[in-house]
Amino acid sequence: MRNFESSLEFAKKKDLEDPIKHIRERFCVKENEIYMDGNSLGLCSKDAKEALYHIVDMWEKHGIGIWDVEDSRYFMYQNVLGEKLAELIGAEANEVTVMTNTTINIHQGISTFYQPTPERYKILVDDLNFPTDRYAVDSQVRLKGYDPADAVKVISSSDGRYLSEDDIIEGMTEDVVLILLPSVFYRSAQLLDMERITNEAHARGIIIGWDLCHSIGAVPHDFKSFNPDFAVWCNYKYLSAGPGAIAGFYINKKHFQKEPGLAGWHGNKNETQFQLRQQFDHELNAHGWQTGTQPLLSMAPLEGVLNIYHEVGMEKIRAKSLDITAYLMYLIDNRLAKYGFTIGNPSEDHKRGGHVSLEHDEAYRICKALKSHKVIPDFREPNVIRLAPVALYVSYEDVYKLVEILEDIAVHREYENYKTERTLVV
Ligand SMILES: *Cc1c(COP(=O)(O)O)cnc(C)c1O
Repeated sequence: MRNFESSLEFAKKKDLEDPIKHIRERFCVKENEIYMDGNSLGLCSKDAKEALYHIVDMWEKHGIGIWDVEDSRYFMYQNVLGEKLAELIGAEANEVTVMTNTTINIHQGISTFYQPTPERYKILVDDLNFPTDRYAVDSQVRLKGYDPADAVKVISSSDGRYLSEDDIIEGMTEDVVLILLPSVFYRSAQLLDMERITNEAHARGIIIGWDLCHSIGAVPHDFKSFNPDFAVWCNYKYLSAGPGAIAGFYINKKHFQKEPGLAGWHGNKNETQFQLRQQFDHELNAHGWQTGTQPLLSMAPLEGVLNIYHEVGMEKIRAKSLDITAYLMYLIDNRLAKYGFTIGNPSEDHKRGGHVSLEHDEAYRICKALKSHKVIPDFREPNVIRLAPVALYVSYEDVYKLVEILEDIAVHREYENYKTERTLVV
């Protein structure tokens, strides 16, 4: 049970007591700006910037020699980053690699594992996931000659916010061969019981892949304890590795012998890669799922920021994230509920990811008004203001001020000064 108070002094006291408050200085936090959008694009850090500048320096100095310097560290950069990421999800070092983007990594996972038979050919998904996951699944099903209307089994949410784990498990019928689900729903922040769902899938001989886009860097995972088959995620949200940063890919070691669905020369064993044979012989670990040349410039910032994550550790990050989101919910209940705001995320710690989902009929225009007050929120159709107080760089005082600004906007109906037409991205 947490005890919060609604005064500014209380927020300041919480900041003083925050064991990871000093980390904020490592991030490029703008003065007078309240950044609540780290679940869409995490802020730049000095560590990420330095790592990026360093790799540009190495390129300048060494030209093609960059692949060989420091014991081929940069040629093997996906191993370096895979090992650092593995710790965040409790996986073994060689079960994790980094490559391309989340969408392509979903294609990689599905094309590797989707082996339909006439009796067993369905992929189970949900209707709350971010749409790119669905586009990828549907197109993979078509590539195998099936119709998504038949072969993609969708578990529906009854309220547009949450999904029941029982419904998911009930959906695991004998015709289902594969499951793809998000760990945390991007709109409502609901965190699924991944261990329970994975165990139920495995008990029925179903392969399961997880999309960690909204949990990596906010919620610790312990993959060793429940052994999912594969997972994907982007590194630019909570993990703050930069716009379009390279994405993550996990494959359980029991599948290392499997043939990658999408093969390429950087998945070949290192020893024979430059013999340039016509016969593909993949590395028997996650790196065997690599395709083409590694984009070093979109990998380096990830190394920088992962150093911060390792310094702090996921336990402290999760503890602050849970506390500061609970504090935000407390202030919403106390100060905003009377203006038509409702909370659209789970209140229980074990069911909540890293953001708060604030709902209001005027959500879109309220977001416009927030920006004029130098608050960066995240709007999601149709009525959701996502607010992510990222543990590493958002303070309790930021959250206090955010709520004060929201209250002001509501009291003075400031949002009425803005148009309802949508702009392209935000
Ligand atoms: C952000 C997000 C993506 C992004 O996919 P990219 O291919 O990296 O652009 C995919 N899936 C989910 C669930 C996401 O939240």
